[in-house]
Amino acid sequence: MRRGNLFIVSAPSGAGKSSLIKALLERHSLDNSMAVSVSHTTRATRPGEQHGVHYHFVSVDDFKALINQDAFFEWAEVFGNFYGTSRLAVEQQLENGIDVFLDIDWQGARQVREMMPEAIGIFILPPSREELERRLVGRGQDSSETIAKRMNEAVSEMSHFDEYDYLLINDDFETTLDRFRSVVLAARQSLDNQRQANTTLLDALLAVK
Ligand code: 5GP
Repeated sequence: MRRGNLFIVSAPSGAGKSSLIKALLERHSLDNSMAVSVSHTTRATRPGEQHGVHYHFVSVDDFKALINQDAFFEWAEVFGNFYGTSRLAVEQQLENGIDVFLDIDWQGARQVREMMPEAIGIFILPPSREELERRLVGRGQDSSETIAKRMNEAVSEMSHFDEYDYLLINDDFETTLDRFRSVVLAARQSLDNQRQANTTLLDALLAVK
C-alpha cells in the first residue's frame, strides 16, 4: 500500500480555502482516501463550529502542555491565537494510505516543509483585492477598523504565496475545485506513489525469465 500524500493548503481568510477543502472531501473522497487534519486552537469558538469537527478548542494552558509533550507536528501563533497540528493523527492517516490536508498558515507550512520536504504546498488566492474585501465585509456586521485589520492580515498571508508548489486563483468555485482535485490526482500518479502501490505488478513486469 502506498503512504498517503501530505498537502499543505494555505490562503488568506476570504479566499475560499475551507469551502474548497470541504467540497473536495465531500465529493471526491467517497472511498475515504482523503482527510483534513483537525487542528488544536486557543481561539474562541465561532457560531456553528463544533469541538472535534472544526477544531479541538483548548485553553492556552492545555495548548502549552501539548507543546511540552511534543504532541504537535507544527504549531504557530496566528494573529494572537495558538494553532497546532497533532503529530499522531497525521502520522496514522498517512500510514494508512490516506491523503491528508493541513489547513495551516505560512509559518506552519515552513515547519512542515522542513520536516517533510515531500509535502505538497498549495496556495489559494482570491481573484482580486476588491473581491477579497467584499468577501471579508460579507462575513458580518464588523467595524471598518476590524475589516481593515483583516485586510492587512490577508495581505501579510498572501505575501508568502511563492513558498508553495501550486497556486490556485479562486475566480470560480467549480473551476478552482477541478484544479485542486487535479493537483491531488496528479500527486497520486507520481513515480513514488505508483511504485509503492504497485510493487507486485512492477516485480512481475520486470522479471527476467
Ligand atoms: P481561523 O481562526 O480563521 O480558523 O484560522 C486562522 C488561520 O490559522 C488560518 O490561516 C488557518 O489556516 C490557520 N491555522 C488553522 N489551523 C492551524 C494549525 O494547526 N497550524 C497553523 N500553523 N495554522 C493553522
